[in-house]
Amino acid sequence: MNEFTIGDVRVHRVEEMLGPAAPAKDFFREYSEEEFKRHEHWLAPNFYDPGSGKLVTSVHSWLVRTGRHLVLIDCCSGNHKPRPGMARYDMLNTAYLDRLKASGATPEDIDYVMCTHLHVDHVGWNTRLASGRWVPTFPNAKYIFSRQEHDFWCDMAKEEATQQALKNVYNDSVLPVVETGRAVLFEDTYGLDDCLTVLPAPGHTPGHVRIDLKSQDQSAVFCGDVLHSPLQIVLPHWNSVFCSNPGQAAQTRRDVLSHCAETDALLMPIHFGIPYVAHIRSVTSGFEMDFTRTHR
Ligand SMILES: [Zn+2]
Repeated sequence: MNEFTIGDVRVHRVEEMLGPAAPAKDFFREYSEEEFKRHEHWLAPNFYDPGSGKLVTSVHSWLVRTGRHLVLIDCCSGNHKPRPGMARYDMLNTAYLDRLKASGATPEDIDYVMCTHLHVDHVGWNTRLASGRWVPTFPNAKYIFSRQEHDFWCDMAKEEATQQALKNVYNDSVLPVVETGRAVLFEDTYGLDDCLTVLPAPGHTPGHVRIDLKSQDQSAVFCGDVLHSPLQIVLPHWNSVFCSNPGQAAQTRRDVLSHCAETDALLMPIHFGIPYVAHIRSVTSGFEMDFTRTHR
C-alpha cells in the first residue's frame, strides 16, 4: 500500500529502493545477537532477511497533498551521483521520477521540498544532472532546510579531511539549491498550510527535524531517520552507527514514540519495509508496533 489518508490530506509513498541492505549486526551501534534473536520472528520477512542477515530497508519520499500545495518530504539518493565508498548510493539509475509521475506529480508541480536532514539518502533528488551541471529537480519549489543542519554540512564539505562522498552530497545535492536561491533556511521551526509543522528532532544529525501533519482529528509524524527499523520501536535505545549523538538520538526517538502513542499519530518513516508506516502503542515494557491496525 503506497497511499495513505490523514484527515483531508492524501500522502503517497514514492519508492526509490526496497530490499535487503545493511547487515543488522553492522547497522546497530548497540547490537546484541541474543536480543536481536528475540525479535527476529516478527521482523522477518518484511523488515529482516534471515538468509542474508540483512535488514530489509526502503528508501522513499512522501508526497503530501495539503489541499493548497504539493510537498515532497525527503528526496532519496538521486541518479548519476558519484558516491565513492557508498556502494548502495553510487551512480544510481532508478525510475524514481517515473514513480513520482505515477503518483500524479511532475517535478514542475512540486511547491515545497522538505528534508528531515541532509544525509545522502534524503537529498539526492534535490538536484538532477542537466548538460553536465547539477540543477534543482523541482524548478518551482522552495526547499525548506534547517539552518543548523545546513550549516553543519556546509562546513563539513569545506574540510579537507572530509570523506569525498560526503563532500559530494553537499556540493551536488544541496549547494546548487542554495546558489539558485531556492533554499529557505529556517531557525527551530517552520509551519506550512496550517497542517504541517517542522520541529527539531536532533541526534541522528545535529539539525535533524521531524514534520508533524495534522488534519481534521487525525495526525502523522514524518520522522525521517529518528527510526530506521521497527525494531527501534521496542528497543528505542538502539541507535544506528550513523547517529551522530546516540544519547540525544535515543531521547528524540522516545519523544516521538511517546507522541505517537499518546496522540494516535501515524509514524511515517523513510526506511521501514512493508507496510512502511506504524501505529504505536504503549505497553508495560515501553512501546510496540500495533500490527492489528497496519496491514502487512
Ligand atoms: Zn536515511
